[in-house]
Formats: sequence, structure tokens, C-alpha cells
Amino acid sequence: MQHFFIPAKIHFGTGCIAAHAQDVSAFGTKALIVTGARSALLSGALDAVTTALKEHHIQWELFDEVHENPLLSTVTAGARRFLNSGCDFFIGIGGGSPIDAAKAMSAMAKCTLKGQEIYNASLITDAWPIVAIPTTSGTGTEATPYSIVSDDQRGIKAGVGAPVLFPTISFCDPTFTTSLPQKQTRDTAIDALSHLLEGIYSRKRSTLLYPLIFDGIKRIVTCLPKALEHPEDIDLRHNLMQASLYGGMVIAHTGTTLQHSIGYPLTSELGTAHGLANGVVMQPIMELYYPAVRQELNDLFRWLSMNKDDFYSWLAQFNMKLETPVTDEFTARRAEEVVNSRNMANNPFDVDITTVKALYKSLR
Ligand code: NAP
Ligand code: FE
Repeated sequence: MQHFFIPAKIHFGTGCIAAHAQDVSAFGTKALIVTGARSALLSGALDAVTTALKEHHIQWELFDEVHENPLLSTVTAGARRFLNSGCDFFIGIGGGSPIDAAKAMSAMAKCTLKGQEIYNASLITDAWPIVAIPTTSGTGTEATPYSIVSDDQRGIKAGVGAPVLFPTISFCDPTFTTSLPQKQTRDTAIDALSHLLEGIYSRKRSTLLYPLIFDGIKRIVTCLPKALEHPEDIDLRHNLMQASLYGGMVIAHTGTTLQHSIGYPLTSELGTAHGLANGVVMQPIMELYYPAVRQELNDLFRWLSMNKDDFYSWLAQFNMKLETPVTDEFTARRAEEVVNSRNMANNPFDVDITTVKALYKSLR
């Protein structure tokens, strides 16, 4: 039995906020707008949102304290701010970090959760309405029931998934991504590519999702190299954003796998950007999983008019390398955390700690 369920209304295309201003403003009387320090302004998304809110006489407050890989302490501060400010819905603007933070704040505020309780999905039974406005083309969080939050006390990055964490509505306007620098364009597109590939690797893979997976990967393979050369090209940005949205829709069903779990410590301990952390392990993970999903990957490569080696050459052009080397001591400490992470249940076969250690070793 297969199923497809994305309970979020999604507007997609240039100018979608202005065209559907009533939808930005439909969920309450005062919004807490959750952003990072610069990108909401730089991308033009904050301006588009506040124009729509003004038009419909909706008030807002700005919480612009979310950093990359949002911290639990930031989520707690945002939830407190929401409750003290008379707000009744959230608008998350940015990459995955501010949108995931807004999702977690929303559940924390609604369910009166404290600290690490946010990682307990069974406690996340309700949330305030969440409007998601991506300014990167990577996480697909605009279409997922997940929020990834780093626990500053335990020093680990972890995710939680609950149906109420799907955004109520998402506005995907590719023009907001034209301000993305080259590195973030690459890293975020590689994150989207990971999600799409993981739709093939996952034990929960479903042929219902294959049209999205195949189409999304082709868009990235064709458009990412060109977008790095022509960052202002809206058509290329449109393709990358569509691929990212598809990636979100896919992992909403299949979850992520070792491809993501192994990257989390690279981010939480070594500061590697999320997409880059996925990128450096993409080839070794594909080699590991290839025997288990040979037919699916061969179908994909045929669709891309490539073979596996061509795909690896395509990947190599992005020169993805860790800035801080992985040491034996890091591997010994972190491999167990990887094996125990939530997404490991989705791998195409059981992966043991020896395999995880060997993968880290291959990164040196
Ligand atoms: P991000 O961490 O939100 O942002 C990365 C950097 O890009 C920040 O410095 C940000 O600036 C900047 N930026 C964002 N949009 C920009 C724009 N349009 N122009 C210029 N700069 C811009 O990046 P992300 O890769 O989108 O999100 C990563 C997070 O999402 C990770 O925590 C990851 O684990 C999570 N994730 C979530 C899901 C999910 O389903 N929920 C799936 C995959 C990944 P500011 O600091 O100023 O904002
Ligand atoms: Fe991701």
C-alpha cells in the first residue's frame, strides 16, 4: 500500500506573496516573524511579507535571532517571546534554519513544552499556524513535518517529526534565492539532491514518489552548474526551488537515511554546512547502497543519460571537501551517535557501527 499526503497549501512562483496577500494574513491578528540576521531582508522576502500584512491590517513582531543550525535555547527564547507578545501565528522566513526554528517554537508554545521535550514527537500534538517562506532551495522544510534543532546542552543535532509541523501554508518565490552566494547555492542544492536520492535509498521508498525524485534530480543536475555561473537567472533558480520542494515532499514520506545521520556530527562538531556535510558523503553512500537499489539507480542514470561514473564526475566539479579533518578520536566518539539516530531505521539495510566508522575514515 502506498500513500501521498502533504497537508500544506503551497504557492509557487515569482510574486506569489503579493498575488496571495490574503493567504499570508489569514491565520491570526499578529505574527511573530522568525528570521536570521540578514537573509530575510537581503532576499526581499521580509519586505514582501510586511507589505502583505500591512495591506490586511495584520500586526507583527520580528524575532531575527536564528543562526545557522538553530539552537534549542533560541527556540525556547522565541517561544517565550511569542507567548509574551500576543502573537497568534508564526511566519518563518529564510533557509531551513529560521523555518525549522519557527516550527519548533510553534509546537513548544502551543503544547507548553520545556527544553528537550521538543524532541519527543508524542508530545507534539498541536502547533500554532506556521507560514513558511524559503529563501534557499535546499531543505524542502516548506513541505515537511520535520524540524531540526541543535541541542546546545548535549552538543548534538537532532530532528523531530510530527504531522502538526507541516507548515500551514508555504510561499516559494525563486526570486528570493537570487541573493544566495555561490557556496550557499551549491550546499543547499546538494542538500535537496540528498533528499531526492534518499527517497530511492529509504526502506519507505514508494513508486508514487519516483516522478518527483527523477524530475527533481534532473533539474539539479542540469541547472546547478549553470546557476553557480548565473546567480540572477530566474529560470535556473525556479528549477532549483522546484527540485527542493520535491525533495521536501519526498522525505516527508520516506524520511532521511544514513546520508543525513552521518553528516549531523560533521555540522555540530566541525561546523560543516548542512548541505556540504551531505555532499562529502554522497559518493561513498551511493557506493554502499548501490547493490541494494541497483535497479532504481540504474533507471535514474538512464533518465539522466549518465552512468554512475558520469554522476560521480558531475559531483566532483563542485569540489566538496571538509575544511576540518575527521580524526580517529572524532570517529570513536560520534559513530555511536550516528548509529542511534532516528533516521537509521530508514536505511535500505541495517548499517552497523563498523560501516559508519569506515565511512568517516574515507573522508580523510
Ligand atoms: P540556513 O542555515 O537557513 O542558512 C544558511 C546561510 O544562508 C545563512 O547564513 C543565511 O543567512 C544565508 N541565506 C539564506 N537565504 C539567503 C538568501 N536568499 N540570500 C543570502 N543569504 C541567504 O540554510 P539551509 O541550508 O536552508 O538550512 C539548513 C538547516 O535546515 C539545517 O539545520 C538542516 O538540518 C535543516 N534541514 C531541515 C529539513 C527539514 O525537513 N526540516 C531538511 C533538511 C535540512 P541568515 O543567517 O541571515 O538567515
Ligand atoms: Fe537536509
